[in-house]
Amino acid sequence: EKPVQRKPDWIRVKAPTSKEYAETRALMRSKSLHTVCEEAACPNIGECWKRKHATMMIMGEICTRACRFCNVKTGKPNLLDPREPENVAEAVANMGLNHVVITSVDRDDLDDGGAAHFAKVIRAVRAASPNTTIEVLTPDFRHKDGALQVVVEARPDVYNHNLETVPRLYNAIRPGARYFGSLQLLAKVKELDPTIFTKSGIMVGLGEDRQEVLNLMDDLRAADVDFMTIGQYLQPTPKHATVERYVTPDEFADYATMGRAKGFLLISSTPLTRSSYHADRDFATLREN
Ligand code: SF4
Ligand code: SF4
Repeated sequence: EKPVQRKPDWIRVKAPTSKEYAETRALMRSKSLHTVCEEAACPNIGECWKRKHATMMIMGEICTRACRFCNVKTGKPNLLDPREPENVAEAVANMGLNHVVITSVDRDDLDDGGAAHFAKVIRAVRAASPNTTIEVLTPDFRHKDGALQVVVEARPDVYNHNLETVPRLYNAIRPGARYFGSLQLLAKVKELDPTIFTKSGIMVGLGEDRQEVLNLMDDLRAADVDFMTIGQYLQPTPKHATVERYVTPDEFADYATMGRAKGFLLISSTPLTRSSYHADRDFATLREN
């Protein structure tokens, strides 16, 4: 194990203090909703919540998997809350969001991996806020037959599924998942409904090299993926995978340039980029152009 490295000065995080932050927090509590922003201890929470941009995490806060980079608790998950679709829809309407990101823990305990519940949440949000664009960030549903179709048929605007890291590091970092399975899932979304934008992301600083990242970009483009995110991995607690190194802002800029050249419609590649970082703003800009 390497000693914990000091964070470089480009990873600067401001403590969340705004009134909007407090309001968002109170709203989530009142509806018993969980957010990735909090569960993953996201460094952008102050900035995002001030702008009322949040990522909802449905199906409970306990995950059936234990990825080495993730701060979400692992264990026996909660029962699904049948009121959750309505609660999410009300929170989105209440916050007046233009764009919402909805994600979940992995529910390998459920027959459909939670796909039907995902679809219910999408439909409830759509009904309550028809002008809000909806981005989902889903698990792989263990590639169970028909699960993906159920979510696609609910017609999210953006379908995100993260590769998280390069294939060489899957066993160490993302056990229980398969790189090519995730690529196939993304390709399948496009095949089922070409009007849905597809998106994926990785964390860097886990030991991958530049060529591996460029190869991964090619794999995503071959699967017709439209948007990509690249951000620095940060170790949530000493029990999690260590940061191999801090990738410099120049290297992130190089990845962004390469990604655009390879044809991604949107690419966010900065140290503090997260899968949902600026997803609202970037998607609105794309739709205007
Ligand atoms: Fe939440 Fe995403 Fe913003 Fe982090 S980047 S605070 S997870 S919306
Ligand atoms: Fe975290 Fe998702 Fe892995 Fe569960 S499947 S441990 S929520 S990254």
